[in-house]
Amino acid sequence: MSIHKLTLYELHKKFTAGEVTATEIVRAYGLRIGQVESKVKAYITQAKDSVVAQASALAASLKGWRKTAPMMGMPLAIKDNICTEGVATTCASRMLGNFVPPYDATVIRKLREQGYLLLGKTNLDEFAMGSSTENSAFGPSRNPWNLHCVPGGSSGGSAAAVAADECAAALGSDTGGSIRQPAAFCGVVGLKPTYGRVSRYGLIAFASSLDQIGPITKDVTDAAFLLGAIAGHDPLDSTSADVPVPDYMKALKKKDLKKLKIGVPAEFFAEGLDPDVEQAVRAAIEELKALGGTIKEIQLPRTDAAVATYYVIATAEASSNLARYDGVKFGLRAKETKDLLDLYMKTRQEGFGPEVKRRIMLGTYVLSAGYYDAYYGKAQAVRTLIRQDFDAAFHEVDLIVTPVTPTPAFTFGAKSEDPLQMYLSDIFTISVNLAGVPAISLPCGFSQAGLPIGLQLIGRPFEEETLLRAAYAYEQSTQWRMKKPVIR
Ligand code: GLN
Repeated sequence: MSIHKLTLYELHKKFTAGEVTATEIVRAYGLRIGQVESKVKAYITQAKDSVVAQASALAASLKGWRKTAPMMGMPLAIKDNICTEGVATTCASRMLGNFVPPYDATVIRKLREQGYLLLGKTNLDEFAMGSSTENSAFGPSRNPWNLHCVPGGSSGGSAAAVAADECAAALGSDTGGSIRQPAAFCGVVGLKPTYGRVSRYGLIAFASSLDQIGPITKDVTDAAFLLGAIAGHDPLDSTSADVPVPDYMKALKKKDLKKLKIGVPAEFFAEGLDPDVEQAVRAAIEELKALGGTIKEIQLPRTDAAVATYYVIATAEASSNLARYDGVKFGLRAKETKDLLDLYMKTRQEGFGPEVKRRIMLGTYVLSAGYYDAYYGKAQAVRTLIRQDFDAAFHEVDLIVTPVTPTPAFTFGAKSEDPLQMYLSDIFTISVNLAGVPAISLPCGFSQAGLPIGLQLIGRPFEEETLLRAAYAYEQSTQWRMKKPVIR
């Protein structure tokens, strides 16, 4: 079987057994990327030369020594808002177009220490703001299932790269759905860990109280495998949790859902849900029942307030986080400026795209004197209520099952003229970030037009194992992962 078709874990086993070398892996992926990248456009930067050097260095250090770390020799793609020392990290923004970080994000340091192979940095919506990659300053990525459709966003490049076999697995970041929504649109698996489970050090901040790095993979086993390699406490991130990391692969041992109570929130099956999506998700719920789960209707009554709450909190935090891009310390600096204020203004005018500017203005407004209590203060109060809804639900059930998105992937331009329409595409993912709980998105069917549909499982804080166990049981009892896109 061709190397690029293997899952991450399959490749790991072959590598550990000495059946394939790092150099062969790099060569195979070089060929695959050469075949499809001009159509998919998943990458902003391909680390072509450095990955060859990494592979030979690995081969040299491995001579006569067969013990391997989990990610050793594994070819990964990294979202371009995660800092990689010596490799450009642009955030898909002109502002950071020439930014080469002098340090690694903690997740990258961990992968590097294990001997992973960095294939390249993947496309995203500028500063992770968006749902389609159409906000990238370098042009959008395309959905491997239908090149006229968006791959989702903001981690659209990572999801497209995984779906198109342009990497064995990828990392994305999720602030309001940016791992799960593109995973759903591209027919792959995406896991947003509990807030604090994975270090954010070196993840370029969008909305710090919501951002979380996580895996985008070909199947559930790979999600467990990659999460184990990046999770854990980090003194460099004050919001990272000092909670032991379990062996996530062990969670996959049980193949039934006996004793698991699974909640179905009525609010997630309301008007606006595409009939193909509803049908696929309802069928998946039946399957979870057949696997031994007990299905229970539950309520998450503040679901309708989630999008509004998110767009106050996320923009407020973004306006503050993005204040550092002023042309002085790093990144773009505008030329021919009159004075310091002119330098700030021209740099920000030239460096940021329209969506980022819109959010900075919104965020600055909701934080300004006179409006702070009315908007930001209120949004924080509603956020607490949303979290309490989840707390109450998790007294009754162990897991919550919902659709990931109201519709399958949409075509380019369908929502980019209307920001509100775009914002509404995150309606099912956003409350999970506001509550800080973990959730996984995995394939559960196809629309009549042949586009993938995603199933979302939401769990209690730090109970990624339960998510993985249920997702794995469902995945193994269905065939969805077998179908692959034909890229043309
Ligand atoms: N689409 C949402 C937004 O634009 C979520 C983005 C994300 O999770 N990074 O804010």
